[in-house]
Amino acid sequence: MPKIPMCDRCLLYAHNPYLVCAIHLDGVDGDSCLDFREDPNAQAEELWEPEGASYYDGELILQPQQRRTQQQQLELLDTHPMFTGKCPQCGASFDHDYTARVHWDCPECGWMDDTV
Ligand SMILES: [Zn+2]
Repeated sequence: MPKIPMCDRCLLYAHNPYLVCAIHLDGVDGDSCLDFREDPNAQAEELWEPEGASYYDGELILQPQQRRTQQQQLELLDTHPMFTGKCPQCGASFDHDYTARVHWDCPECGWMDDTV
């Protein structure tokens, strides 16, 4: 029976092996239904979250340590102003108290830190 995934959350879904729903007895073509009625009592699908990752606006976001390889982490140590005190783009020095910084946007060239 060609029911579609959204049928499970639809008020009209028949839960019957011989018909799909009250309107589309044989199911619908394609993967969406114009007559879909959200069933407020249907259990929300649980989002699968691998360890160390989380959902943000429906997108699976991997934590930084999963996104970077060890090689990339070593490069980060060599280039990131948090460790070098210098802008990786133009070489301008950050303030002497750079270790206390949170944001690493370079005032000289506009380089912006996208790693943290
Ligand atoms: Zn710079």
